[in-house]
Amino acid sequence: MVLVAPSGAGKTTLAHRLVAASDRFVFSISATTRAPRGGEQDGVDYYFVSDDDFEAMIDAGELAEWAAVHSRLYGTPRAALEAAALRGEHVVLDIDVQGARQIRDSVPDARLIFVLPPSVAVLMKRLTGRGTEGAGEVERRLRSALDELQAASEFEHRVVNDDLDRCLEQIEEIVTGEQTEALNAVPLENIDVLRAGIARVLAEEYENVSS
Ligand code: 5GP
Repeated sequence: MVLVAPSGAGKTTLAHRLVAASDRFVFSISATTRAPRGGEQDGVDYYFVSDDDFEAMIDAGELAEWAAVHSRLYGTPRAALEAAALRGEHVVLDIDVQGARQIRDSVPDARLIFVLPPSVAVLMKRLTGRGTEGAGEVERRLRSALDELQAASEFEHRVVNDDLDRCLEQIEEIVTGEQTEALNAVPLENIDVLRAGIARVLAEEYENVSS
């Protein structure tokens, strides 16, 4: 199961909650070349690796997908996915749009769910409230959010993360097959409104806007 969303949509919290709530859900731990943030543990949140180690993993075919995100490399180790699938577990992938497209093309029974923030205000609060990123990083993530939101229509299921419990319920229903139709809880027009709001924030609070 792939959760795809712009950063600030709350998908990492969703992924962790899903895994905590049920033994049938396990988290796919990605490899990344970015540095750990405060509190993050190697082998728990990510495998923090060097550029050389990451290149070696690509060359050895060890990654089911990989992508450069915010100028760092991120990838999903294939072995853990395969082992979990053999045990009949639902593997939760918290990855970006580029990676989600690769999984969509290579894993036919993957469920891909696009998670949206409820509003620009909530998105900003989540991005700035983290306190670990400077203004430059927030701006970079806002620009990525603009791009990533444009891809929302490519994914079968779209849910809005306004109420965490309700959102979790919807995701569980999609993954366990109770929700058989595409769940598009968010109309595409709302996504345009969200994108316009982000562009406005960028124009008002950051210079050199190019949306
Ligand atoms: P962060 O650095 O904030 O943890 O993650 C930045 C972005 O990279 C997020 O959109 C996250 O979902 C994405 N990401 C994390 N792991 C992977 C991965 O294994 N593959 C891909 N393609 N993206 C990832």
